[in-house]
Amino acid sequence: MTDNKQDELAIQRFVEYIQIKTVQPEPDYDSALKFLKNYAQELGLEYRTIKLDQDRHAAVLTWLSPSSTEKSILLNSHVDVVPVFEEHWIVPPFSGEIRDGKIYGRGTQDMKCVGIQYLEAIRRLKTAKYEPKRTIHCLFVPDEEIGGERGMKQLLTLDEFKDLNVGFVLDEGLASESDVFQVYYGDRACVWIEIIVKGNTGHGSRLIENTAAEKAQFLLNEMLKYRTDEKERLKKGQTADKPLQLGEITTINLTKLDGGVQINVVPDQYTLAFDCRIKPNGYDAFKQFLNDLIKRIPKNNDEEVTLVYKQDSGPLLLTDIENSSWWLDSFKRGCEEMKCKLNWTVFPAGTDSRFLRNVGYPAIGFSPMINTPVLLHDHNEYLAKDVFLHGIDIYIRLIENLTNEPKFNV
Ligand SMILES: [Zn+2]
Repeated sequence: MTDNKQDELAIQRFVEYIQIKTVQPEPDYDSALKFLKNYAQELGLEYRTIKLDQDRHAAVLTWLSPSSTEKSILLNSHVDVVPVFEEHWIVPPFSGEIRDGKIYGRGTQDMKCVGIQYLEAIRRLKTAKYEPKRTIHCLFVPDEEIGGERGMKQLLTLDEFKDLNVGFVLDEGLASESDVFQVYYGDRACVWIEIIVKGNTGHGSRLIENTAAEKAQFLLNEMLKYRTDEKERLKKGQTADKPLQLGEITTINLTKLDGGVQINVVPDQYTLAFDCRIKPNGYDAFKQFLNDLIKRIPKNNDEEVTLVYKQDSGPLLLTDIENSSWWLDSFKRGCEEMKCKLNWTVFPAGTDSRFLRNVGYPAIGFSPMINTPVLLHDHNEYLAKDVFLHGIDIYIRLIENLTNEPKFNV
């Protein structure tokens, strides 16, 4: 097959994948599994599914290295995408329409591109008669976009996953607006909380003592002060050789504020919801701050303030990038060969990698998209054709380096 033909085929498969509506909250996983099964057949890969529950399966497309007992590499991607506001799109969001060299569609950046790039890199390596010295698994998981509880988190508890004998994982990252690739070795911890403050009620014309609003005021002041301090730190902060980045600070946002029944009645309670994302190694200190804050709110008794955790990731482990290892050295070598400039940092939100890292698998978040606006979850999400195709070449080098000569069996 000529290079041109291969490029056309890659784009065709990408567009077909975009056209499958794996959109939350009711993703069409059945069609995606059918698509992946056919794809595996076309590429000569082993195909299997791992059942997570009645409606959910992970698909594994495997390029087996028959002679190898080395640990495998896992190329992970999620199948689901987030909802769209169709009226804001310039093309139908599940069309995969190409305009001015840009492929439009939900999932073009997050992260159907990466799933296809893995497979198209494998197609080209197979055409070139490459023989991997480690087994390669391409994993397609459901439900990342709704937290991964019934997707990756569930999968990691199953023996079928352990049987994959994984030694290293590549997963999603983010686009980069400059010519520097973003590489993620950790995710920020995530704490979603609701704080319910209660107080005395009465007529809106009076000066009631010990109101819910005064407690909400104290709480908001303290939370927003924390936010301002971190914002300042981001502005001025510097790590060893570069400015501090979003993934390296803690962010707090007030995301909901409920309370009150009528304009002349002092409410007896308010509920304040906060989305908190915590910097690496900052989890315990942040929890301590929250617990102290709850105690410090002026109140008559403890029942007047309640802290509810809606989501709590717990502390998250980082992938070790300080010490040399077969996968780290191979990854870096592959990037060097492709002349990729790298910025190593922490993912500001959450990916499935956090579950993998927390049970001991080294995982790197990397979506090879430079000179590209960050449009994940946004209207008119797109990826330029040439960026998509260049990503395939990058994965070829990465896969080669990660599977050519295993130096140590770890
Ligand atoms: Zn994603």
